[in-house]
Amino acid sequence: MLTDRDRERYSRQILMDRLGEEGQERLKSSTVGVFGCGGLGTITSLYFAAAGVGRLVLVDSQKPDLSNLNRQVLHWEKDVTEGVSKAESAKYKLSNFNRDIVVEAHTAMVTEDNIEEFFGETDMVVDCLDNFESRLLLNRFCIETGRPMVYAAVHGFYGQLTSIIPGKTPCLRCIFPESPPPEPFFPIIGVTPGVLGLLEATETIKNIVGLPGTLRGELLIVDLLSYEMGKVKTGFDNQCSVCGKWRK
Ligand SMILES: [Zn+2]
Repeated sequence: MLTDRDRERYSRQILMDRLGEEGQERLKSSTVGVFGCGGLGTITSLYFAAAGVGRLVLVDSQKPDLSNLNRQVLHWEKDVTEGVSKAESAKYKLSNFNRDIVVEAHTAMVTEDNIEEFFGETDMVVDCLDNFESRLLLNRFCIETGRPMVYAAVHGFYGQLTSIIPGKTPCLRCIFPESPPPEPFFPIIGVTPGVLGLLEATETIKNIVGLPGTLRGELLIVDLLSYEMGKVKTGFDNQCSVCGKWRK
């Protein structure tokens, strides 16, 4: 299934015992949804494109503004001036970076009624969102459709990451029974979604290839000020309104 060009382009990662041609084929045949094309989404999607994930589905409703550019590195000044949407802006750069992959862009508000349209054909969805309401919508969709998701969140110099595997790990609602208050203009410096976006891409690639050491049932907490990183176990909430009934 790999072409000679694939074997050359990805030769250095195919050399890795843990990945090999089989792992590369898995990446190539995968469709990954990237929900949110901001600080996390521009980093994860760039490294999915670099690694040869065969198909990317990018979804974001917004256009970039100047205050996004300290962290949303696929969007450039001309995108702000020209009013290009974030999904289209990211698609343009990723398609030019790697013409061997398929990149789909959707500029749309995702709701309970249309989420299937965007992510129904993905193997996995990466949560690159900045608000908890949309995260919960994605969490519910992934649990109900048995689709794995990788969650990451950032604030200031601080971030967290986990994998949610329906039926096997606690879901986002189990981990956070209470939604945090909305904070539309939270403080953030680009290096934080940069680091967390790379960790999120790593976690997704490990899940696709089937590597050990994924964060299933564990939440990774990263503090870039103290450089402390730690994992805490996550627990099922028996009363969980999202995954409770699916586990019975
Ligand atoms: Zn749950």
